[in-house]
Amino acid sequence: MTVTPTIAVVGSGPIGSTYARLLLEALPDARVIMFEAGPQVTPRPGESVRNLTDPDEKARAREMSQGPQAGQYRDALGILAGAVVEGMFTARQGTHLLDFGGEGSAHAPAFPAAAAATNVGGQGAHWTCAIPRPAFSEKLDFIADDEWEDLISTAEDLLHKQSAAFSDSPVGAAIRTLLDREFAAELPEGYGVSTLPVAGDPQPDGTMRWAGADTVLGPLIEPGTDTAARFELRDLTLVRRIEHDGAHVRGVVVEDLRTREESFVEADAVVVAADAFRSPQLLWASGIRPAPLGRYLTEHHVVISTVALDAERMSALVSDAELETELARRATNPADPVAAVNRIPFSEPDHPYSAQIMYAETPPFPLPVDHPAARNRWGYVNMGFGTRKFPRVEDGATFSDDELDYRGMPNFTIEYALTERENAEIAEATARLRRAGQALGTFIAEPRLLPNGSSLHFMGTMRAGTDPATSVADPFSRVWGFDNLVVGGNALIPTANTMNPTLTSVAIAVRGARRLADALRAPAPGA
Ligand code: FAD
Repeated sequence: MTVTPTIAVVGSGPIGSTYARLLLEALPDARVIMFEAGPQVTPRPGESVRNLTDPDEKARAREMSQGPQAGQYRDALGILAGAVVEGMFTARQGTHLLDFGGEGSAHAPAFPAAAAATNVGGQGAHWTCAIPRPAFSEKLDFIADDEWEDLISTAEDLLHKQSAAFSDSPVGAAIRTLLDREFAAELPEGYGVSTLPVAGDPQPDGTMRWAGADTVLGPLIEPGTDTAARFELRDLTLVRRIEHDGAHVRGVVVEDLRTREESFVEADAVVVAADAFRSPQLLWASGIRPAPLGRYLTEHHVVISTVALDAERMSALVSDAELETELARRATNPADPVAAVNRIPFSEPDHPYSAQIMYAETPPFPLPVDHPAARNRWGYVNMGFGTRKFPRVEDGATFSDDELDYRGMPNFTIEYALTERENAEIAEATARLRRAGQALGTFIAEPRLLPNGSSLHFMGTMRAGTDPATSVADPFSRVWGFDNLVVGGNALIPTANTMNPTLTSVAIAVRGARRLADALRAPAPGA
């Protein structure tokens, strides 16, 4: 190993950024080169696109993140194949469907809504920033509680956690009161109705500056800092292959998507944080193919609906003056429609669901003007109940040696099915969603289960664990059998998890980065 180690990080989302930051801070001589297949879409690398106030800039940044579905920007992004299909249905803004239907598209009829983002900051430039902690069986059983507490608190600091965002909203508080009346008696102590922790920085005018990979990178992107001098981010650079001898990696083969030139970059360690499908794809392309790779795919399924808040119940809890003040404050930031976020966390044994209840002044879809709930002065809530998917080896991606995707990487097919166990929990979650809705007002959208893949939280495809037969990575995120190849991201979460996973994945990455830094630390002189 060299005295000034070079670490190659694949992917510029929150997880790759966690590795870059912690390694450079822990190793004063190290260099990190971060490779990102997508373009930089915000002036500050990896910033949340939600922070852009100009609607045209925001739309442009989102479209440029959409890889094969990036419309007019596609040709500039180095997409090899993928004919644009007329009437192609696209994913959520800023993301592109894996199974987008054109040439070079993945095959995922059983997981149709699965999507990714290809841009500096990854999905973390488009995310909602909810960062609840995992609880009970959602946690990783091979990490002791005291270490976990330290890891998760470090992750919260990296993401600028705010547990009190919108907590001063009287409407948000009234929503909590109504939900509490309905559910408190059946929820365990400490797991009742509460505000949802989010990642970002409240601004003096009451708005939020949402966190992205830029927040995690911190000093690495501040000109003039010591760590910035040792950090290099190469956008529009696709990592095609990891070079290795079966136990040790030597570096990565990268393609500059602007020039189409391929080159080899030597590295003392490689961190792959390129999302839950493209990380295993890269390992596969590199001939690293442990049996669990790509398997044990889970997400949390989501039952959603929208409710118009009940004027009588709300006005008993919120005065007219309080409502007017809240609406006036909200009017200062019409581009960011979410005004308060509440939740009912996962708890066992009786509430294995993670409910998110977002207050907004306008419904997420247009209501006919003569609809009784149109222009409801008290506003609306969008609710989602997340449910478990129990890991099974049958669910997951199978990679092909014969068929290439739109980037010339091994294409993949996703197999996935809900079983009776999951369907029973989805039915129970739907019943609870109905109770929540009835407690708050009138349904304007009936509860419905979103199609498979909709959560955008894909887990399990590179599980961390203690048994190489059922996991890709060891408890410190090293690929089994390798001493300097580390993986990161939601793919490492081995449990049946019902909620937003990024905080958990950052905590796992903190553990992996600390161990990798120890391994890379040059021996003291004379040692
Ligand atoms: P990503 O952010 O996906 O980044 C991976 C990067 O790797 C991508 O930019 C990709 O282009 C790049 N890459 C892939 N292959 C290669 C290659 N071969 N070479 C070079 N680069 C490559 N999570 C939450 O916890 N809470 C939320 O509220 C939440 N809301 C969300 C809302 C939306 C609309 C979306 C899209 C996501 C949301 N998420 C949320 C998910 C969250 O954004 C992800 O969990 C998080 O971004 C994962 O981080 P990551 O670094 O592992 O991967």
